[in-house]
Amino acid sequence: MHYDGIIIRPPSEADSIIIQITAGCSHNRCTFCGAYKNKQFRQRNNEEINENIAFAAKYCARQHRVFLADGDALILPQSRLVEIFTQICTRLPQVRRISLYANAKAIRSKTVEQLAELKKLGLNRVYLGLESGDDQVLSAAIKGETADSMLAAARQVKEAGLFLSVTVLLGLAGATRSLIHARETGRVLTQMAPNQIAALMFMPIPGTELGDKVLAGVFQLPDSHGLLEELRELLVHTNCDRVQFMANHASNYLPITGRLSRNKNEMLQLIDQALTGRVILRAESMRAL
Ligand code: SF4
Repeated sequence: MHYDGIIIRPPSEADSIIIQITAGCSHNRCTFCGAYKNKQFRQRNNEEINENIAFAAKYCARQHRVFLADGDALILPQSRLVEIFTQICTRLPQVRRISLYANAKAIRSKTVEQLAELKKLGLNRVYLGLESGDDQVLSAAIKGETADSMLAAARQVKEAGLFLSVTVLLGLAGATRSLIHARETGRVLTQMAPNQIAALMFMPIPGTELGDKVLAGVFQLPDSHGLLEELRELLVHTNCDRVQFMANHASNYLPITGRLSRNKNEMLQLIDQALTGRVILRAESMRAL
């Protein structure tokens, strides 16, 4: 398989065939994100995509899922996506689920009917990075979206009958706005009612605008205790039902996972135990992106 640069995929796509149909991210301005900093956004050409599908047809017959990389594969024009999905259906008949990252702008560039058309061709899961429900935080992070614009995108995904997985980023507001960020994010997640929520903890990446500010000491992150308080506040204000809540990424000090609303109290109790020192946190040296 020929990839352009390093490939990033959600942890739950570890067993998927990764087919890269775009390189980089069409936005690529978020101050906290170093994922595609060294990649100029481009659509991969037919030859590159066909070659990778042919490779998968030959060597990946036992894998039943496909993840389309990179950062916002859904930004491709609908006709191009239909062509790619049709090829995957034809040449990889064992594939049961196709997933991709989609930013809110890419989602809004499609109608609900177009998203439903892709669903018929195998699209199942859309990963959307909300990061925060607080407009002040989104603006400072140059996310290029507001909470409302991302809510509109999330509603389109749900209306098309697709599985919506939403990522939020603890610590992004810094120490001073931490709890407002948590409450606003919980409020927006409640309105989005996604199928899955992944809460990651911000880790500064040298060379990114926000990472460099943290490392220079001009942006103060909450400490581990503050991040747990933020996680707690987020959970308290997230009132969804039948949602998988995951804060077990390697960046988290306290790996927790459970169903909302069923396991909410258990997860809150575990955070409280950690806050009072009765549960050991993941060592700083063991945290990773
Ligand atoms: S966070 Fe997402 S939208 Fe922002 S630059 Fe990174 S990949 Fe692009």
